[in-house]
Amino acid sequence: MLVSIISDIHGNLEALKRAIEITEDLRCDKVVCLGDIVGYGPNPNECVNVIRSASNHVVMGNHDNAVIDTKAIEKFNDIAKMAVSWTRDQLQPENVAYLAELPLSLMMDGILLVHSTPSEPESWHYVFDEEDAAEGFECMNTPVCFIGHTHIPAHFSTCQEQVGLALDRDHKHIINVGSVGQPRDGDNRLSFGIFDTEAWIYRPVRADYDVQTTAEKIRQAGLPLFLAERLLRGR
Ligand code: ZN
Repeated sequence: MLVSIISDIHGNLEALKRAIEITEDLRCDKVVCLGDIVGYGPNPNECVNVIRSASNHVVMGNHDNAVIDTKAIEKFNDIAKMAVSWTRDQLQPENVAYLAELPLSLMMDGILLVHSTPSEPESWHYVFDEEDAAEGFECMNTPVCFIGHTHIPAHFSTCQEQVGLALDRDHKHIINVGSVGQPRDGDNRLSFGIFDTEAWIYRPVRADYDVQTTAEKIRQAGLPLFLAERLLRGR
């Protein structure tokens, strides 16, 4: 089975549509979403609607949580706070209800799916380096975990000699698929991944999308200009 794993869409409809298009072109059997469907971007309702029809395997991100839990916003910086309250005003009640029902983690065919960390998904910590990943490996009862949250694609493994795209089955892996709607690794192309659950091959995907349109929509919506600039820069 080929699984398309997308994360951190952040209300960016142009990037999401492009990612789904690629997923269909590659004939993926399933779409998995690792959360942060909303927040920052100009099309929260449209993105929730696309995910609701494209995927049955969706976990909650911290921005999804922040629009439904007013206390969660306290940890956010000013720009993220502004974007969350803007998003809260835009979201249709049925989409708020949908986000509120999302689980913090999911198991799918022996693969762990979570937005932030395998160890404490509800704390929204980040896996940035080997040390963070080591904590995650300890809590994993499964060999493979897919995450998002940092918006930076990465592959952490207990195997020191990981070469090529096939995962070593004798080791544990935490793979960050990057962000569809707000990449932060200096490359402004959307990022996600395709996992072959039989061959255990993970392929990272990068692709252009109409970033100018999304940036213009952010300006038109009155969202902080920094958010448009960040999309163009990719960091
Ligand atoms: Zn995010």
